[in-house]
Amino acid sequence: SKKPVRVAVTGAAGQIGYALLFRIASGEMLGKDQPVILQLLEIPDEKAQKALKGVMMELEDCAFPLLAGMEAHSDPMNAFKDTDYALLVGARPRGPGMERKDLLAANAQIFTAQGKALDKVASRNVKVLVVGNPANTNAYIAMKSAPSLPRKNFTAMLRLDHNRALSQIAAKTGTAVGDIEKMVVWGNHSPTMYADYRFATVNGKPVKDMINDQAWNKDVFLPTVGKRGAAIIEARGLSSAASAANAAIDHMRDWALGTGSKWVTMGIPSDGQYGIPKDTMFGFPVTTANGEYTVVDGLPIDEFSQERINLTLKELQEEQQGVAHLL
Ligand code: NDP
Repeated sequence: SKKPVRVAVTGAAGQIGYALLFRIASGEMLGKDQPVILQLLEIPDEKAQKALKGVMMELEDCAFPLLAGMEAHSDPMNAFKDTDYALLVGARPRGPGMERKDLLAANAQIFTAQGKALDKVASRNVKVLVVGNPANTNAYIAMKSAPSLPRKNFTAMLRLDHNRALSQIAAKTGTAVGDIEKMVVWGNHSPTMYADYRFATVNGKPVKDMINDQAWNKDVFLPTVGKRGAAIIEARGLSSAASAANAAIDHMRDWALGTGSKWVTMGIPSDGQYGIPKDTMFGFPVTTANGEYTVVDGLPIDEFSQERINLTLKELQEEQQGVAHLL
């Protein structure tokens, strides 16, 4: 049987953590033949550490055959030791009266420390996914704080936006989600992201021909996908957690195990594709194979799409400038 791999998860006692850990331990992320050791990080706060112990008790009680070990940590230098995968979920939520720049600064501190710890102690091939918001900028900070690790190992989660877009298109066209291919989400994991179905197909048929309604795209589809997180908070009284955890599983599984020719969206450091400045942590269409992703390059960008891409890029550049002095 395979040698266990180490999977670090931060914010492990939070609500996304609760929807995530059981699925990792059951093999849904890395395969039903891949044992895992969970290295769980929570803040040193006594309540958080106690809650984490409770989650670990439940993990024990599942008796997952693939769960080869489990550790609770309060220091990233221990939690990230030799880790092969790191899911950075914990982040500082916006408190009452907190300005955007305070939020960026609080998170910059967390992700600088975590980036440095990954740099020092993680596997040299560690695959990092940042879920905690602002996810793209937090991933950028971690990457910049880990100069000895390859830049390409740092990614941000755009997959929830991608999955939300797939479901909206399936509902609109009366088709099955699993038959839709070639969806793209460009940019920042925020309401400015640009979900782009211009290339999408259902069983090979262009979605654009099935919808052919630019007003629906602009006035219904994009706002629905962009504001979906807020709509869930409004309905559930809590932020989305299971769907966010599911997207994290999808992201890591596809990165580790490959998608073949299927396109997925990942937030990755740009190499300059589509005019996005190098290192900007940006949602791009990718395919994956052998643990590596490749950007689907050379897609035509029309005027409307360019405007949307510019908008989400501008927001990301402002976030990056907002933390530049902290790096
Ligand atoms: P959640 O588990 O609900 O959310 C965790 C993070 O994921 C938040 O930043 C949240 O952003 C983000 N997120 C990204 N995409 C989504 C999405 N689509 N839907 C919902 N959330 C999304 O938060 P909890 O407060 O329940 O748990 C966080 C845990 O992290 C706590 O236990 C806390 O102690 C811990 N923590 C750990 C840190 C560390 O390890 N150093 C640092 C800070 C906190 P948003 O806020 O925008 O919803």
